[in-house]
Amino acid sequence: MTNCFKNDFSMDISKKIIIIGGGLAGLTAAIHLSKIGLKVILIEKNEYPKHKVCGEYVSNEILPYLDWLTLNISELNPTHISKLEFSTADGAIINCDLPLGGFGVSRYALDAFLSMKAIENGCEIIQDSVDDVVFEKDSFTISTLNSGTFVSSIVIGAFGKRSNIDQKLKRSFVQKKSHWLAVKAHYSGEFPNDLVGLHNFEGGYCGVSKVENDTINICYLASYESFKRFKNIEDYQKHIVMKNPHLNLIFEKSKILFETPLSISQVSFDKKETVENHILMIGDTAGLIHPLCGNGMAMAIHSAKIVSELVGEFYQTKIKSREELEKRYIREWKDNFENRLKMGRILTFILQKQKFYKFLMKIMIKFPFLIPIIIKQTHGKTIAVES
Ligand SMILES: Cc1cc2nc3c(=O)[nH]c(=O)nc-3n(C[C@H](O)[C@H](O)[C@H](O)COP(=O)(O)OP(=O)(O)OC[C@H]3O[C@@H](n4cnc5c(N)ncnc54)[C@H](O)[C@@H]3O)c2cc1C
Repeated sequence: MTNCFKNDFSMDISKKIIIIGGGLAGLTAAIHLSKIGLKVILIEKNEYPKHKVCGEYVSNEILPYLDWLTLNISELNPTHISKLEFSTADGAIINCDLPLGGFGVSRYALDAFLSMKAIENGCEIIQDSVDDVVFEKDSFTISTLNSGTFVSSIVIGAFGKRSNIDQKLKRSFVQKKSHWLAVKAHYSGEFPNDLVGLHNFEGGYCGVSKVENDTINICYLASYESFKRFKNIEDYQKHIVMKNPHLNLIFEKSKILFETPLSISQVSFDKKETVENHILMIGDTAGLIHPLCGNGMAMAIHSAKIVSELVGEFYQTKIKSREELEKRYIREWKDNFENRLKMGRILTFILQKQKFYKFLMKIMIKFPFLIPIIIKQTHGKTIAVES
C-alpha cells in the first residue's frame, strides 16, 4: 500500500477521483476508472486480505464485465454453482436449477485479488479511515485519521452497509435501528460444489455454498427479535438455526475453520439516496438488497460500472455539468436496481411470515415453473459490455 498523495495539494485535482471504501464496489470502480486513464486514489480502512460477512455466491451476470476489465476470476479457483435448494424451517425442501448460475469465491480472496489488480492498473490504495468529507466551491476535501487531507473533484462513496461517513452525512437510514444481524464462518466437510442452499429458520435464513479450497461458507441473517433470548451465537445456532433438519445435518457434519464466527449487527435494507452531498454512492452505500436474493455483490460491481462510465463521460465533457452527472447516475441506478430492491423487500416480508412462506412453498412445490420466474425478478440480466 502506498501513501504518496498525503497532503498533496499541488497536484491537479480537476481529474482526480477519490473512492472511499475498497470492497467490491470501490475496487471495481478503481479498476475501471484507471483502465480508462483516470487518476484514482482509493482509501480503505482495513488491510487485505480480510474475511467479510457474506454468502460468497456471485451471480454470473457480471462475468462479461469482469472479462472486459481483464479480471480472470478462474485464477481464484472458484466453485461453479448451478443448482439451488431451499427449505422451510420445518424441513420441506425444493430443488431447482439456477437460471443463470454463479460462482463461489471467498471475499478474503476476491477483495485481495481486486486490490492487486487496482494497484497494477495504477490506482493508489491508501490504508486509512476517512473521517469526514466536505463539499465546497465545487470541490471535495476528504479528511483521514492518519494521512491528512485530500482534495478532489469527484468522490465515489463505496463505504458499504453502514459507516462512520453515513453518520457524518446524517443519512436517514442510520437514524433508525435495524432489526437484523448476520453471522458467517468457513467450515470443512462435505457439501456439493455446484449447489447453493437457502434454509429458513425461525427469524431468519441461512445460505450454504462452497468457495475455493474445498471450503464451505455458512452465513445466516437473523432478526434481533429471535436472537435476543439467547446468550451467544453457539446457543442460538443450537436452539434455533439447527431446528431446521437440513441445517442440523450440515452443521453436525462440518467443522468450523475460524476461531469464532464473524458477526455484524445493524444490517439495514432501508432505502438510501444514490447521491448525497454530491458524493456518488455505489454498492451497498447506495442500497443493500436482501441477501436472500443472492446478488448484492453483482449489484455492487454493476453500479461501479455505471458510475465509472458516467464519470468517464464527465471528464470527456460529454456530460456538461456536475448536475447532469448526478441526474444521469440517479436515473441509471434506478433503471437497473430499483425493481430488484423492491422484490427483495417483498421476499423479506414473506420470509418473516412463516405461515405465508409455507403456503408459498406449497404453491412452488406444485408449480415448480414459478421458481425461475421469481429468481429472475431479483436478478439482473447479464451485464452488456462494449466489445
Ligand atoms: C448476511 C449477508 C449475506 C450476503 N450474501 C451475499 C451473497 O451470497 N451474494 C451476494 O452477491 N451478495 C451477498 N451479500 C451482499 C454483499 O455482501 C454486498 O452487497 C457487497 O459486499 C457490497 O460490496 P460493497 O463494496 O458495497 O461493500 P463492502 O464490501 O462492505 O465494502 C465497503 C468497504 O468500505 C470500507 N470502509 C467503510 N467505511 C470506511 C471509511 N470511513 N474509510 C475507509 N474505508 C471505509 C470497509 O472497510 C469496506 O471494506 C450478503 C450480505 C449480507 C449482509
